[in-house]
Amino acid sequence: MQASLATQYRTEYNPNWCPGCGSYGVLRAITLAFQELGIRNEEIVLLSGIGCNGRFPHNFRTYGFHTLHGRVLPIAQGINIANPELSVIGIAGDGDAFAIGGGHIPHTARRNPDITYIVLDNQIYGQTKGQPSPTTQIGYKTKVTPQGNQEQPLEVSKLALAYGVSFLARGFAGKVNHLAYIIAEGIKHQGFAFIHVLSPCPTYHDTWKEYQSRVVEIGSEYDNTSLDAANKLLGEREKIPVGIIFKENRQTLADRLRVSTQERLELKQLLRTYR
Ligand code: SF4
Ligand code: MG
Repeated sequence: MQASLATQYRTEYNPNWCPGCGSYGVLRAITLAFQELGIRNEEIVLLSGIGCNGRFPHNFRTYGFHTLHGRVLPIAQGINIANPELSVIGIAGDGDAFAIGGGHIPHTARRNPDITYIVLDNQIYGQTKGQPSPTTQIGYKTKVTPQGNQEQPLEVSKLALAYGVSFLARGFAGKVNHLAYIIAEGIKHQGFAFIHVLSPCPTYHDTWKEYQSRVVEIGSEYDNTSLDAANKLLGEREKIPVGIIFKENRQTLADRLRVSTQERLELKQLLRTYR
């Protein structure tokens, strides 16, 4: 009997996320994106850092790498250079991506490796029980900020655009089919695809209702090849537009290195002779 597409990509692993966690929607969206693209399991590498989504790769029958805190991007770039034929997908949370791992984003953007980076932003450190993260808004009360958070949150999509990512999208864990479309487009994009996902944490920072009332899909008339249009869209304050915000075709890191598989094998052989 032929395995269903869901079991083709997914393991029997049961995630231990809290009920209602946005991560469930993202997990489903990634699975749907793989189905849509029909990629073979052995062509996919999923990587994660540390946090509530650290075990993400355990859910998939693909290659996986649970890396160190904040180090998804350097390892993803290494894999991409070693084998540009693979679909390399990094998963991180807001703490992992924008605090300890924040310094890697601009350098990844300027190298433009062909990788997809999905950041689940719940505006809190969930795994360590609810401390403010780089995206927590001013005034939000947590156990360690009883008078409210006093630090201004990073505007993540604006930062990514300023860093020069070649594909920028924002999605919402509550719009699973739409998010699956965004992720599939990100994987298809040749270059660094940065996908900022609004993913509520109902346990420590429940933003479900807020997002349900403010999130809107970007209309078909929007020109996602225009930097001006992207900057204008990201200035929107009332609503939170989701969709593909910006994309451009640019040479990738592997294009510039132009190292063929044969050359890599020869180099490996050469290095062996020096051992
Ligand atoms: Fe999800 Fe928050 Fe629970 Fe972590 S703490 S699993 S982010 S709901
Ligand atoms: Mg977080």
